[in-house]
Amino acid sequence: MLDGEYEDDNVFARILKQIDPCIKIYEDEDALAFLDIYPQARGHTLVIPKNTRSRNLLDVSQDLLGPLVLAVQRVAKAVVVAMESDGFELQQLNGTAAGQTVFHLHFHIIPRMNGIPLIPEL
Ligand code: 5GP
Repeated sequence: MLDGEYEDDNVFARILKQIDPCIKIYEDEDALAFLDIYPQARGHTLVIPKNTRSRNLLDVSQDLLGPLVLAVQRVAKAVVVAMESDGFELQQLNGTAAGQTVFHLHFHIIPRMNGIPLIPEL
């Protein structure tokens, strides 16, 4: 569902409100980055916008998207250095049909090592 309503009790909203815990990697005024609870590789990190009720890439304002993407780049650089990874995957799923399961806009940064496959999703 690309066009559903934003739900205020989704798990990432709960993390932003500090109701649920997370292992924080980075935070600025626009974005929060934390480790994925079911990593597809060591260091799998999620980056989410803080100040928007956006479900996906289509319903976020351009004003917020710019700083968010800069935060994604900043976090990706740090993850690559910290994990000494050979590469990284940037995933961003939109809608149930694409596999999205949490309906607060987010980017996955997944470190990749030569010859090592991803851990299958549950
Ligand atoms: P999606 O499939 O929507 O693109 O990705 C949602 C991601 O959120 C999944 O990779 C899943 O493992 C992660 N996730 C779901 N619940 C939690 C949680 O409570 N804490 C953290 N850190 N990650 C979560």
